[in-house]
Amino acid sequence: MSPTEANTNIAGVDPSDGLAVLEQRGSVAETFGIPLAVLAELTHRCPLQCPYCSNPVELERGGSELTTEEWKNVLTELAEIGVLQIHFSGGEPTARKDLVELVQHASDVGLYSNLITSAVLLTREKLSALADAGLCHVQISFQGNEPVLADRVAGFKGAHQKKIEVARWTRELDLPLTVNAVMHRQNLFQLPDIIQMALDMDADRLEVANVQYYGWALRNRAALMASVAQIEETSRIVEQAQARLKGTLEIDYVVPDYYALRPKKCMGGWGRQFFNISPAGKILPCHAAESITGLEFLSVRSNHSIAWIWQNSDAFNRYRGTGWMPEPCKSCEFREVDFGGCRCQAFALTGDAGNTDPACTLSPMHEQIFKLAEQEAAGGSNRFLYRNFAGGTLEMDGDNGA
Ligand code: SF4
Ligand code: SF4
Repeated sequence: MSPTEANTNIAGVDPSDGLAVLEQRGSVAETFGIPLAVLAELTHRCPLQCPYCSNPVELERGGSELTTEEWKNVLTELAEIGVLQIHFSGGEPTARKDLVELVQHASDVGLYSNLITSAVLLTREKLSALADAGLCHVQISFQGNEPVLADRVAGFKGAHQKKIEVARWTRELDLPLTVNAVMHRQNLFQLPDIIQMALDMDADRLEVANVQYYGWALRNRAALMASVAQIEETSRIVEQAQARLKGTLEIDYVVPDYYALRPKKCMGGWGRQFFNISPAGKILPCHAAESITGLEFLSVRSNHSIAWIWQNSDAFNRYRGTGWMPEPCKSCEFREVDFGGCRCQAFALTGDAGNTDPACTLSPMHEQIFKLAEQEAAGGSNRFLYRNFAGGTLEMDGDNGA
């Protein structure tokens, strides 16, 4: 079934949801409006080795990265087709020597730019040059609220202290700051202090994101998986802080969907609201999509435009809408709410991206996977498999405090 057919059965479309209205109307080309924000993964190179890194396990080497001119052409094309925001990410985007030039080009073509960074490679001069080039926002990832645990998770000595310094420079340069904290079993106890740290840094926003389990995080699931009790406590802490700090610090919260009843609306639905561009220029429905084998993702180096790839390529259309869905999603009242959950998670845990996401309690595989997660939370080893180009390095025994 084509995505067009797939979407003719949408019932009761909310007229304020522009995309949904467009979807109900007609052809694929007319249907999926270009996303307003795009993630540009400039490189997979990164000095840190986070065990939950969302980059694919098969990292792309520097030699295959788009050149400066190719990225500039991409930015121009994105602006021309209606994209408004560009999020420079990685890997570590500051590992690219041409970052200032790319930010300047983004400004020149009218894109709002955000830098998502581990911060450890930045100097004050470099950050200042980025601000002068028109950088609009900085998002720094933190692994904890103090150096012992944070540096251990990052696999990089001195990382935490450097991040604190860069956060200070960011505010001194009057750039808005988001603190991004990825939470898991081994750092959840620090959450109240992380919230305080974000406040002390005068951050505008704090993203409390529980680890999502694909790629490197799936390899490290036994070392990262939190218990139900921990997640309940986390939700309570976040809710209290959200109420207490309203108007001072905006707190976004991503729940781990292993412990939810229904899966998250991953990426707003496959090929519906979002795409990202890999270091080698592939246009992807999400940053983990290349983990799904059997799909061909086209590149900006192909002879197709970005808009054509978004609207017409097989990889984007394969899981768009609801027509591809098996039972229980097919006849489920939530099918246009969560779009069946995450395709990458379905592939990683069931071997078929076309299955219902097993995070859903209605999936026949949910119970088996949930039980395993509970066992891992209770008895998993704390040793990390660090993310790197060599396929991962196991943490030295004794370094994990065990
Ligand atoms: S998650 Fe960690 S290792 Fe992965 S790109 Fe970000 S900072 Fe680097
Ligand atoms: S059955 Fe499918 S559509 Fe229904 S809640 Fe579960 S994942 Fe969502």
